Amino acid sequence: MLVVQQLSHTFLSGTEPTQVLSGIDFRVEKGEMVALLGSSGSGKSTLLNLMAGLMKPTEGSILIAGRNIEKMNENDLAVFRRSHIGFIFQSYELIPHLTVRENVELPLVFQGVKGKVRRERAISLLSRVGLAGKTELFPSQLSGGQQQRVSIARSLITEPAVVFADEPTGNLDTKTEEEIIDLLIELNMGHGITFVIVTHEHEVARRTKRIIQLRDGRLVDPDIQAGEGA
Ligand code: ADP
Ligand code: MG
Repeated sequence: MLVVQQLSHTFLSGTEPTQVLSGIDFRVEKGEMVALLGSSGSGKSTLLNLMAGLMKPTEGSILIAGRNIEKMNENDLAVFRRSHIGFIFQSYELIPHLTVRENVELPLVFQGVKGKVRRERAISLLSRVGLAGKTELFPSQLSGGQQQRVSIARSLITEPAVVFADEPTGNLDTKTEEEIIDLLIELNMGHGITFVIVTHEHEVARRTKRIIQLRDGRLVDPDIQAGEGA
């Protein structure tokens, strides 16, 4: 489902080039839920943004559902991203003047899906994430946890091959964090959604079946990782 090969990235935007990722290799199978764990500044968001096609890597390749995304031109990538990649942000990124249902429908608007079909799919997904009664409210009328549920529903509406989440519980209290992780686990186990969840919190990472650890832009050897966890 997702293959990352010899991925390296150097930012050229500062006063001197900064290598943020080097020699990253891993794969995520369909239906897996993986945590990408690392401390602040270790390169997690950069790696996620590269995998989601939001930036191009300096070196290496990224395959999603068998397609080499770093080789696509901008147009093809935009189309591919909209239908095959879901993204969940720490700060939800909902559109304030659209209702909860309209926010969830938005990716389908871009795909030209008809109103009635969009509405039905959004309402069904919103009930799956526990927001059946909230579809006509605006984001500002919801709690943080509920807003993140909206953003999760939105990420799923195109039935993407993989959903990337960047610190999805970073703005939430511990209890709400647990509820959101419970929901992601349920969506993974019950519906086979493939998730890659970025976090700096061991407690969050530990709840997934597999942890990939990043340190100073390199993957920590899985054997060392296992030893550290014991
Ligand atoms: P994390 O998400 O693990 O906290 P990031 O991927 O955001 O880490 O950042 C990794 C490193 O890359 C940091 O040192 C950061 O300052 C640097 N970095 C991130 N984005 C840019 C950018 N656009 N230009 C230059 N350096 C960047
Ligand atoms: Mg980050």
